[in-house]
Amino acid sequence: LSKDIDYQSVLSEIHNEIAPLIGGGKVANYIPPLAEVPSEKFGMALQCTEGESFSIADGGERFSIQSISKLFALTLAYRHAGASIWERVGREPSGTPFNSLVQLEYEKGIPRNPFINAGALVISDIILGLATDPQNSFLGFLREQSGSSSIKVDEATLRAEKATGHRNRALANLLKDFDNLEHPVEDVLDFYFFQCSVKMNCQELASTCLYLANQGDSPHAGKVISARKAKRINAVMLTCGTYDAAGDFAYRVGLPGKSGVGGGIVAIVPDLMSLCVWSPALNSSGNSYVGTKALELFTTKTHLSIF
Ligand code: GLN
Repeated sequence: LSKDIDYQSVLSEIHNEIAPLIGGGKVANYIPPLAEVPSEKFGMALQCTEGESFSIADGGERFSIQSISKLFALTLAYRHAGASIWERVGREPSGTPFNSLVQLEYEKGIPRNPFINAGALVISDIILGLATDPQNSFLGFLREQSGSSSIKVDEATLRAEKATGHRNRALANLLKDFDNLEHPVEDVLDFYFFQCSVKMNCQELASTCLYLANQGDSPHAGKVISARKAKRINAVMLTCGTYDAAGDFAYRVGLPGKSGVGGGIVAIVPDLMSLCVWSPALNSSGNSYVGTKALELFTTKTHLSIF
């Protein structure tokens, strides 16, 4: 059935239907370069496991991937360290904002999941212990999976992350105090900020995520992880990928998804496609306001929700 869908027309319909919503939500401003991105930007791209790809509007314009990076960091850590990662980070929804400190204190330095900032800091620490050149391994993974060798970090964003990352610094210090970081706090933060500062476009992100729609094996870029691990990463995306809005996202969209405060959201239709939407203005949970709506329209029109 899904093969009969004219995806380019579906994207056009979505583009038309979200137009009146542009202007809703608020562009993140706590990292100054993010505030400079025009709020009316909108892009969306699909990459099918069978090779076809579709894109609309600003689908080819790069933006700051921010917390979408947490998905790729989890993949690299889980691929190499296996189930031992779950001794240091949980896999339950947090029900708190992505940068919250309170839960980490009363749960003694074990973050609820890898997709909130505290969890991603632990994952970053794990990767620092696995790779000799973690920054290049991380970028290399994105370049290989997307097929775009020009993907890089935005230096202005990286500087701003370091200058304004007081909460992340607090989280890292708390983790260190609870003995859940092996490396120096500043090294972990540097690598975490590096990941957040990468810029990619919707097409590149959809291509990069294809392994999650194809049992861990990218049709164009080779095996990334086992099918078992891909299944589990998708499950954590569904339950934790959009922070304290994960329930609402599952209710509206019905796909595993991962968002970032740059306004991007990636989503997976198991065994069929990966998709990415970008619109910079965020809702109160820090997820793209128009992006969430666009994904909701997508599963409503195509019946491709997993439910
Ligand atoms: N760099 C951002 C931060 O650490 C990432 C957060 C996000 O995208 N949710 O606050």
